Amino acid sequence: LPLLVHLYLYTHAARAKVVPTFLLLGPSGAGKTSLVSLLQRRSLNLEDPQAEAVLTRVSQVSSPASLLLPPSIPLGSNKYRSDNDVALKDKQPTPYVMIDTPGHGKLRSDQALSQIQNPALRGVIFVVDSSVLDASDSSASRDTAVYLHDTLLSLQRRKPRGKTKTEIPVLIAANKQDLFTALPTGAVKERLQAEIERVRMSRSKGLGTVGQNSDADPEEDILGGGREGKFSFELMAEEYDIKIDVLGGAVRGEEAGKGVRRWEEWIGSCL
Ligand code: GDP
Repeated sequence: LPLLVHLYLYTHAARAKVVPTFLLLGPSGAGKTSLVSLLQRRSLNLEDPQAEAVLTRVSQVSSPASLLLPPSIPLGSNKYRSDNDVALKDKQPTPYVMIDTPGHGKLRSDQALSQIQNPALRGVIFVVDSSVLDASDSSASRDTAVYLHDTLLSLQRRKPRGKTKTEIPVLIAANKQDLFTALPTGAVKERLQAEIERVRMSRSKGLGTVGQNSDADPEEDILGGGREGKFSFELMAEEYDIKIDVLGGAVRGEEAGKGVRRWEEWIGSCL
């Protein structure tokens, strides 16, 4: 019995302080760790994006960072309040948690994508390096697309916890927009959709030959469902209510901090 009491207290305490959580995904080198340090500095009101960042460390484990959303960023939950209410409530920064994850291939499914089941999860931020997505470096863009494909498929398969399933929105942060080799945001979106379509085609061929007589559900195993036609982010919204936004910016470099406010506004819209 003491164990039960312990368990009760534990779950009770855990439920009492659920901080909205965001999952930070993306291939190694995209800028995840740099983004967390930038958001950390902004949380501390040290709004100098040029300030030397905390040294980017190679993350081998998922690590949660406690952050604050500046009071000037509108919150989604305030949408239906009057302006006066918002002004009063918005004086306080809003706490949230960001879980940085290792982008290295072998650790993706175990340590990064398993976090999609986290009950506190409010959104997924997938960071891409916009400068490696041009056709000349197709191995990097394919790697990015495979990881994004698997992320979206995990979200599509996510099982509901309670009676209602609230879908997790996705922000694709098209980072490194300061580099002259970077694809512009619209082109990043096109490129990722086209690459994901290729991944989807080759995966569905695999399913067709292997799983013919098994009880695998093709609708569940193919990203976007088994529907005809090309893959698009809009399809995920139509079929599964999973909203995907692509917003460009730069964490480091000459234009450090550019677009970060828009990323924070996206975070705010999920709160
Ligand atoms: P992670 O592996 O996704 O955590 O990526 P890091 O945050 O460690 O960043 C990888 C490298 O990209 C580092 O050398 C960063 O300084 C650099 N980097 C990150 N963001 C930007 C950016 O917006 N512009 C430029 N030019 N470099 C960046």
